[in-house]
Amino acid sequence: MKIGVLAVQGAFIEHERVLAELGADYVELRSAADAEQSLDGLILPGGESTVQGKLLQDSGMQAVLKKRIEEGLPVLATCAGMILLAQELAEDEACHLGTMPIKVKRNAYGRQLGSFHTWGIMRGAGKIPMTFIRAPYVVSAAKEAEVLARVEGRIVAVRWGRQLALSFHPELDEDRSVHRLFLAMVREYLAAQAAGCSA
Ligand code: GLN
Repeated sequence: MKIGVLAVQGAFIEHERVLAELGADYVELRSAADAEQSLDGLILPGGESTVQGKLLQDSGMQAVLKKRIEEGLPVLATCAGMILLAQELAEDEACHLGTMPIKVKRNAYGRQLGSFHTWGIMRGAGKIPMTFIRAPYVVSAAKEAEVLARVEGRIVAVRWGRQLALSFHPELDEDRSVHRLFLAMVREYLAAQAAGCSA
């Protein structure tokens, strides 16, 4: 199993550490050629989505990754990564990869509450620690999308097909349930491919 980790900016090393701990191989993605290689999954880390979006565009990775995600490549997106996946951003900004039917508000918790830690229930992962850093939340999701977690009534985790997007940073806590869930999605994807179906 080989997971591509977008490594242009932000907290990618923390995800790589978790993948290594769980025995999954990974490769850092910085160019269109990197993004075109054979991959079994993709991680879009937290960071600064405007910077990441620009670097995705300039490197030529944007179109390649968008197509691969739309073709079913499993993806785990945290925080800024969730912003990259959103089809719509509140406050009229252009979207980036735009592969997930969610509307996301950036820096949604305001200055005072910009960063906080809590525990919450996430479907498929159980009760887990959740670290929010100048986090976005999901204002609305397509009704076919699966809402996996809410904190104080706000959507903070969504699944759409093989795309998993979170407002928080599981890679910064010790609990590995979210990464295990993602790797299980990757294994299902590989099994479906081996069986000759793309669904
Ligand atoms: N505030 C950042 C953004 O808008 C996201 C923060 C994060 O990834 N921790 O891109």
